[in-house]
Amino acid sequence: MMFFVGLLLVLPVNPVLSQTPTDKVVVDRVGDTAFVELRAPSFKDLTPRQQALAYWLTQAAIAIDPIIYDQFSAYGLRQKRLLEGILAHDKAIKPETREKIAAYAKLFWANRGNHNDITSQKFLPSFTFEELLLAASSAQQNGAFGNAYADLPPLKSEAEVKREVDALRAPFFDATFEPMEIAKSPAGGKDVIQASSNTFYPGLSLEDLKGFQDKYSLNSRVVRDSDGKLTELVYRAGTPDGKVPPGLYATFLKKADDYLEKAQALAEPQQGEAIGHLIRYYQTGEYAEWLAFGIAWVQNNATVDFDNGFIEVYRDARGAKGSSQSFVTITDRPVTAAITKLAENAAYFEQKAPWLDQYRRTSFKLPVVKAVETLVETGDFSVSTIGDNLPNEDEIHEKYGSKNFLFTGSSRALEAATGHETMAEFAPDQATIDRDRKYGGQARNMLVAMHEVIGHGSGKLSDRVGGSPQRFLKEYFSTLEEARADLMALWNIWDPKLAELGLVSDQGEVAKAMYYNAAAVALTQLARIPHGDTIEEDHERDRQLISRFIADQVPGSIEKFTRDGKTYIRVADYEKMRKGVGMLLAELMRIKAEGDYDAIKALVEKYGVHFDPALRDQVLTRYEKLGLATYSAGMNARLTASFDKEGDVEKVEISYPQDPVQQYLQYGAMYDPSLER
Ligand SMILES: [Zn+2]
Repeated sequence: MMFFVGLLLVLPVNPVLSQTPTDKVVVDRVGDTAFVELRAPSFKDLTPRQQALAYWLTQAAIAIDPIIYDQFSAYGLRQKRLLEGILAHDKAIKPETREKIAAYAKLFWANRGNHNDITSQKFLPSFTFEELLLAASSAQQNGAFGNAYADLPPLKSEAEVKREVDALRAPFFDATFEPMEIAKSPAGGKDVIQASSNTFYPGLSLEDLKGFQDKYSLNSRVVRDSDGKLTELVYRAGTPDGKVPPGLYATFLKKADDYLEKAQALAEPQQGEAIGHLIRYYQTGEYAEWLAFGIAWVQNNATVDFDNGFIEVYRDARGAKGSSQSFVTITDRPVTAAITKLAENAAYFEQKAPWLDQYRRTSFKLPVVKAVETLVETGDFSVSTIGDNLPNEDEIHEKYGSKNFLFTGSSRALEAATGHETMAEFAPDQATIDRDRKYGGQARNMLVAMHEVIGHGSGKLSDRVGGSPQRFLKEYFSTLEEARADLMALWNIWDPKLAELGLVSDQGEVAKAMYYNAAAVALTQLARIPHGDTIEEDHERDRQLISRFIADQVPGSIEKFTRDGKTYIRVADYEKMRKGVGMLLAELMRIKAEGDYDAIKALVEKYGVHFDPALRDQVLTRYEKLGLATYSAGMNARLTASFDKEGDVEKVEISYPQDPVQQYLQYGAMYDPSLER
């Protein structure tokens, strides 16, 4: 389960700040998207062996990066190949055209395709079809497309390039073609599956899938075979002995396995065991191997840690298929020590939770909690994820606990890139601004920590629901679970235990800063949804639900008011707001434990989905006046290895490329060497 930065009011990036030499965090900006640099200062403290391990794990992360483009759209990989070929062979392309294509490509990479990561809506290029065709032909004459790109065949002639660009005309230029990556509230008579561009169930409807039991729930595409029966195309590389044949994404998974084998040789034994299961899993696609990986992985707390797999199900309206993602991290030791205290007291906070005794968890396995700096993130994993609780499998949680990552490297980058402008614009009064300046950082850290450490892991389910509430709550499950974790943080932030443990200073002020952010995000997050009048993303739905439920159910808690034509949100009474937090938290726990689909549907549809587009337009205008970016994309560190005669890593160096084009062409070059520059 991921935790996004959205709640923290730190969406904005100040372009003026980013140009000063002291602040190089923002390395590039296209429209409302800023590219922020992820730094890993702890890399230099690693042993040479750990550095080599980190190198191979980042290579494995880069190896799976293309998969997500194909999961989001059937045309994603072909579009990516075309854009990258053009930009790597751009000598003879008109500078104006090149600039337009580069700007579009940066957004394409930042969003892993041409649907906005947050709104899921398609965005269009500023270049024309003719300009694209001309650029592609010119690139081809200068050496582009001569190689296969993974499984895509080379484009050897001008005619082949023209055919390819023609075939991609609608995917690039037609706003009505695949308008949404995931459409949870679809229009026009289509259901959630049909209206989504992602490739989990091509050509199928929800009706077709009724009663279908996935054998490879996380890692397959469901299609209708020639006999009209539903069948799964499993994501797998195949085994070396040929007993298990290759499946979908074999090229990428095989490459990842090659690098994972190198990593395995350098890892400590338990981590090596985990990597071994992951290699087998990528070969066979078998869930048993995925579980074995998760069990070994969750019990290991290596300094150089990673994840790599088909992990989160947010991108599937049916909540079953995992999107491909990876990250590699280094432990941030001082922050980790503080957070561990929270985990050691999980049983205390469970006792204090406002829900019925029958839903109280009684046995606890200490979760592994670690604050980390990010070395690389690829696939469906982005810098806006600042906390992550893994693995997602309840059968692993219950027996072996879970591992919680706090991406302090990401939070620092986002905070450094953030001016105080948004707070100044949207806060109802000076006191709120001052409080945030002083206590906002603590409030943000505590929210993420509690969300992950005592949020997701809490509560006990009824026997009826067992280990899989997703089965009952379906498309509303993720929203519920994210809200429940947020609410555990909001509920417990007032508890004196936190001060006793030395985790907060001026606790009341920290709590107030956290409450204001949780209330106001219902307004500010609308800036990220420029079109339409519904919210699709689960974390945004969760936050809308919390703020609006409390405002509606506890009069006098959260208030909306207008001054000089501008809308503001303020917390009128913190105690009343906390009462609302408790009410919603108790109800969400009951719904999860009992698998009450009707109840969660009613709640989310009433408070979490719809908003007033006029209010959104007002918020957007205010953002635009401030010149702030609304979305951040991460720029990874680059690890460069030198090798000895045996091919072993001799030395690894870390650098920070400032240019997104350079970074992504370098990633692309893993599958088409002609992209290397
Ligand atoms: Zn979460």
